[in-house]
Amino acid sequence: MKLAARIGDVTPSLTLAIDTKAKAMKREGIDVLSFSVGEPDFDTPAHIRAAAEAALKQGKTRYGAVAGEPRLREAIAHKLQQDNALPYQPENIVVTNGGKHSLFNLLMTLIEPGDEVIIPAPYWVSYPEMVKLAGGTPVIVSTTVEGGFKISPEQLQQAITPRTRMFILNSPSNPTGMVYAPAEVRALAAIVAQHDIWVVSDEIYEKILYDGAEHLSIGAVSPELFEKTIVSSGFAKTYAMTGWRIGFLAAPLPIVKAVSTLQGHSTSNVCTFAQYGAIAAYEGSQDCVTEMVNAFAERRKVVLDYVNAIPGFACPPPNGAFYVFPNIGKLGVKSLDFCDALLEKKQVAAVPGIAFGADDCIRLSYAASLDAIHEGMQRLTDFVNSLL
Ligand code: PLP
Repeated sequence: MKLAARIGDVTPSLTLAIDTKAKAMKREGIDVLSFSVGEPDFDTPAHIRAAAEAALKQGKTRYGAVAGEPRLREAIAHKLQQDNALPYQPENIVVTNGGKHSLFNLLMTLIEPGDEVIIPAPYWVSYPEMVKLAGGTPVIVSTTVEGGFKISPEQLQQAITPRTRMFILNSPSNPTGMVYAPAEVRALAAIVAQHDIWVVSDEIYEKILYDGAEHLSIGAVSPELFEKTIVSSGFAKTYAMTGWRIGFLAAPLPIVKAVSTLQGHSTSNVCTFAQYGAIAAYEGSQDCVTEMVNAFAERRKVVLDYVNAIPGFACPPPNGAFYVFPNIGKLGVKSLDFCDALLEKKQVAAVPGIAFGADDCIRLSYAASLDAIHEGMQRLTDFVNSLL
């Protein structure tokens, strides 16, 4: 069958593939422990669900404004001003079908064939594929476990060419959980300031921080950087709202206008009554976020204790998100073979680092119950011992 060339070059999501395999095994009755999913295992907080239910009852079931419900755009702009010191107005916001959709919209709006997009590796699985879909060229800059999986200002400077149009920064990071310290963000900002490029700052994990780590949005570094930055984020991770499909971008007005045109001919508005849940998420108490982050912190500690005790694993302690990204290089196996064998032999699902541009690592998500973590990490330890 002849398919459009643009899709032929795109790699299917490996993270979803592993999850599908693990779920199929579970359906067969096999006791699979999954550390492969990138979503909180909590229910969406009750007040958020109640707000969406009320909106449904009130008949908020019709087409809405393409860029989002005005009150939600206001709540997002207010949050960006309060929490992130980013002086956005409601008209700078577009509400999208998740953070994934906001990134896709941005790339379709800004990237042309021949344009280069700098992506530090390990990267979130979809960035390079989205760049390719937009006709651009992903320029992958590898980082190391010793360097805390962070791109240095020198590396960024070296990667910039006359064709560079964009740099994608993701902090806290999926898959490594690394958080750039404010001084590190400022150092990267100093490089960006010297060039005519955009920074897309994916801040979807900004609230999930540990050990006193601080999140600084690169757009808040200076007014100049604010003009060069586009923020992409969403409600999925912070409020356990993965299935709601609500994200947003914040950008200068010409970009907002262009993205709204694109969205107007593709998905139109995000589900109207769901947006009322998102309004409640931002306008309501943030205690639910603290509770979930505290639970993640407890699990993170347990996972790290196991990981640090496994011979051959090296893993800088991540300060954000809900992933650890141990290096398995010393074991002499490729990440895909490792994860396949781990699933087959021990029924533990992890994601091979190759999906994130790091074939000597695996990603473990600790968005799982403490019991599952103890059992799964014990099985992983036994598995590694059997390889040595
Ligand atoms: N950005 C990063 C770094 C992510 O990890 C994810 C989800 O896994 C997204 C964006 C997209 O999130 P969603 O589309 O569910 O809002």
